Amino acid sequence: MSERGMLYVISAPSGCGKGTILSQVFNQPDKVFYSVSLTTRAPRENEVDGVHYHFVTKEQFEQMNANGDVLESAEYCGNFYGTPRIPVEENLAAGKDVVLEIETKGADQVRAMMPEAVFIFILPPSVAELRRRLLKRGTENATQVEMRVAQAVEEIKNAGKYDYILVNDELEKAVDDFKTVIRAARLEKRKNIDLIDEVLKDA
Ligand code: 5GP
Repeated sequence: MSERGMLYVISAPSGCGKGTILSQVFNQPDKVFYSVSLTTRAPRENEVDGVHYHFVTKEQFEQMNANGDVLESAEYCGNFYGTPRIPVEENLAAGKDVVLEIETKGADQVRAMMPEAVFIFILPPSVAELRRRLLKRGTENATQVEMRVAQAVEEIKNAGKYDYILVNDELEKAVDDFKTVIRAARLEKRKNIDLIDEVLKDA
């Protein structure tokens, strides 16, 4: 059997630009499985069912959860979000790296179950800049933007639980930092401990 893939859990407040960073970092679909979450929120313009999210009703979400088909889940700004369990497990077992882009409560659940995952938090340069980006994006009204800013502040308070913290100020630098994190994560002791015995075999 091939070696298990690495699990990357990435949190960043909504509007941090994580989508742009991740599409540049994890751009090899044959090596990386990008988990598509379930959500009960309505699709935004340009969002495609099965690509950006699996858009489901609250009843469907609850049914999947009750069946044990949801790895982690959370309520965020009045909607439910969750990670389908089976694709994550199958891809890791097949040796593919898996990326979960989830908020902090879901990340807490994954940390408890799979502490070997690599946890990365992407910070905005400031709360003011985050608000500006959300308003500019124009996918939420002013009240919803303020809800998301308040949510972001709460999420940022949890950033200290993550293995790596990046700031998305300049995109190019953030992408470069992210690639550095991945290189470092691959060299972690717990992932390479077997190499010691391998080298010592003919000592
Ligand atoms: P948005 O509505 O902007 O697409 O996502 C809102 C928040 O939900 C983001 O912080 C995003 O990372 C998070 N999110 C997306 N999918 C999941 C999921 O499957 N589980 C959890 N816990 N959070 C998710």
